[in-house]
Amino acid sequence: MPQGTLFIVSAPSGAGKTSLVRELIESLDGIQVSVSHTTRPRRDGEVDGVNYHFVDKAAFESLIERGEFFEHARVFDNYYGTSRRAVQALLAAGQDVILEIDWQGARQVRAQLPDAVSIFILPPSREELEHRLAGRGTDEHAVIAERMREAVSEMSHHDEYDYLVINDDFTTALRELQSLVIARRLTLERVQARHGPLLAALLSGEPGVE
Ligand code: GDP
Ligand code: ADP
Ligand code: 5GP
Repeated sequence: MPQGTLFIVSAPSGAGKTSLVRELIESLDGIQVSVSHTTRPRRDGEVDGVNYHFVDKAAFESLIERGEFFEHARVFDNYYGTSRRAVQALLAAGQDVILEIDWQGARQVRAQLPDAVSIFILPPSREELEHRLAGRGTDEHAVIAERMREAVSEMSHHDEYDYLVINDDFTTALRELQSLVIARRLTLERVQARHGPLLAALLSGEPGVE
C-alpha cells in the first residue's frame, strides 16, 4: 500500500487554519487531521480526544521523555505536540495526514520527513486577523493581545513553506487547499504506486496503432 502524504499547515492564531482544515477533511476522502496533545486549557466547545488530547504539564513532559512525540514545541506558554505513533499508523495505512502545527514544529517535521508538503495560511490583513480572533469569542482580551503579538513572529516564517494560501474568501482558500492535496495525489510516484497494473497493461508488448 502506498504511504500517504504528510501535510503541514501553519498560520497565525485566528487566520482560519482550524476552520479550513475541518472543511478540507470533510470535502475529501482519504485525509485526516492529526489530533495534537496540548497543555492549554480546553475552550468551551472543545472535546478531549477530538480537538486535542488535553493533558497536564507533568503528563506532557513524561510523553517527551518516552520519545512519544514526532515533534513538540512551546507556543504561547503552553506545550503542543504530535504523537509519532498515531501519525505513522495513518500514513502507513495510505491516509494523507494534516498536521496543524506552528513553525517550530514544522521545522522538526521537515528535518525528519523532507517529503512533507508545507502550507502557510495568511490572513488578508492585520485588522481582519484581529477581528477574527475577537469574533471567535473563545479567548480572553489578554490572550487575544498576546496572540496578535505572536502573529507577526509566526508570519515571519512564511518563507520556510512550500505554499502560501491567503484566507480572504473562505471558499476560495478552501479550493486552493483542496487543489494542493489533489495535485500531490497525481504525482508520478503516487500514480505509479496506485495504478501499477493499469500502467503495465497500457505498456504491454501488444503493438498499437502507430
Ligand atoms: P488557534 O491556532 O488560535 O486555534 O490556537 P491553538 O491553541 O489551537 O494553537 C496554538 C498554536 O499552537 C498554533 O500556532 C498551532 O499551530 C500550534 N500547535 C497546535 N498543535 C501543535 C502541535 O501539536 N505541535 C506544535 N508544534 N504546535 C502546535
Ligand atoms: P485558527 O485555527 O487559525 O486560529 P479559526 O479556524 O479558529 O482560526 O478561525 C478564526 C475565526 O475566523 C473563526 O471564528 C472563523 O469562523 C473565522 N474565519 C475563518 N476563515 C474566515 C474567512 N475566510 N472569512 C471570515 N471569517 C473567517
Ligand atoms: P490553539 O491553542 O489556538 O488551538 O492553537 C495555537 C497554535 O498551536 C496554533 O497556531 C497551532 O497551529 C499550534 N499547534 C496546534 N497543535 C500543534 C502541534 O501538534 N504541534 C505544534 N508544533 N503546534 C501545534
